[in-house]
Amino acid sequence: MRRLFVFILLASISTIRAQPPADLVITHGTVVTMNDKKDVIDDGVVVIRDAKLVAIGPAAIAANYAAKKTIDARGGIVMPGMINTHTHAAMTIFRSLGDDVADRLKRFMFPLEAKFVDREVVHWGTLHGMLEMVEGGVTTFVDMYYFEDEVARVAKQMGMRGVLGETVINQPAPDAKEPYGGFELAKKFIADFRGDPLITPAFAPHAPYSLDEAHLRAIAKESEALDAPVLMHVEEMPDEMATFRKDRNQTPIEFLDSIGLLNRHLVAAHCIFANDSDIALLKARDAGVAHNMVANIKSAKGVSPALKMFDQGVRVGLGTDGPMSGNTLDIIGQLGYVAKLHKLVNHDRTLAPSVKVVEMATIGGARAIHREADLGSLEAGKLADVIIFDVDATNLIPNYDVYATLVYGASGKDVRTTIINGRVIMEDRKLLTVDAADIKAHMRAMAKSIGERVGPVPK
Ligand SMILES: [Zn+2]
Repeated sequence: MRRLFVFILLASISTIRAQPPADLVITHGTVVTMNDKKDVIDDGVVVIRDAKLVAIGPAAIAANYAAKKTIDARGGIVMPGMINTHTHAAMTIFRSLGDDVADRLKRFMFPLEAKFVDREVVHWGTLHGMLEMVEGGVTTFVDMYYFEDEVARVAKQMGMRGVLGETVINQPAPDAKEPYGGFELAKKFIADFRGDPLITPAFAPHAPYSLDEAHLRAIAKESEALDAPVLMHVEEMPDEMATFRKDRNQTPIEFLDSIGLLNRHLVAAHCIFANDSDIALLKARDAGVAHNMVANIKSAKGVSPALKMFDQGVRVGLGTDGPMSGNTLDIIGQLGYVAKLHKLVNHDRTLAPSVKVVEMATIGGARAIHREADLGSLEAGKLADVIIFDVDATNLIPNYDVYATLVYGASGKDVRTTIINGRVIMEDRKLLTVDAADIKAHMRAMAKSIGERVGPVPK
């Protein structure tokens, strides 16, 4: 009897030893992998160790791992985190100000930022923006703003992944008294955060029309030397198109190409007015595009031919733009608009099928930032950025087609759990790395102070 007991004990120890360890195992969810074959695994398992995805497979594989923590996602959707390829998170501080003002950027936004934006505003504004993104299932954000080193610090505090660009512009900025002062700040920022596991530091020249050619060429040269991304608003404004046509007889994209900025480092936001030859250039030069449908239609500028770009193999991801433009920062809220507006403008309901739109939000976003090797899908070896949807949201039942459910039925509020770099950042809608109530309290207090000083909003 005693011998048998010892034998069983030894056998069970050896079984445990044979099981490789895992930090986190997610069980029983509908796993939407977004891999090349678009595999969806009913009652699937996702295994995470050391910030990476170790295995994805059927329920049975869970028994192969000794898990430190298990999340039962029974009935819920498990999928790669959303990638927000263009935003200005700190501008949450100005959300709902001047939404319906004409020619807003120069008449209202730039003066507003000059008056109010400082390091503290960026600190709390970015935390608030990230709170909304994590709550809505965004695991990577691509941000262009001022005091971007502060954005990087709070992103690390939150545990969020970011491609973060320090703004360079031909006028004084909140963090640089002299025009183009951001260029030196950007170089220092890139030096300080290079190699960080969560932060990819970048240059953010504001737009082709708001920097001179010499500075744009200098940024192209530095980004090549430092292998750093370049984030930029491109072909967003009708007067931008008219000015480049008049002064150079070029489109802005042709101009960027002629000065060496249109390349694999560039993430071009908007591209609303890209023509067929622009699209061919974006593809040939392997540039990324951030498609911000909601911000673009709200600004009444037009619908970017992003679907055409995507179909022609351009690296297209989805973005929200800043919260003064698109107002909300979760990508799930974009999905239905992307699908429906491309159908509408092309008068064809078969276009932009839901699987393609989910692809843009996940692996497409990863391609847009040239990170498809380690982000954007649930595949062994990639970084563990994973979200889990509510098992019981009324609007997600029934769920015959998971892509249609996500695009046409889901909202950011249906995300229950967000995991970034293998770390659980939000579980059952509770933030684990930051004090959400404290962030909201600071935001309310700062907004009250700004509200008292902002003065009348121009008509
Ligand atoms: Zn923008």
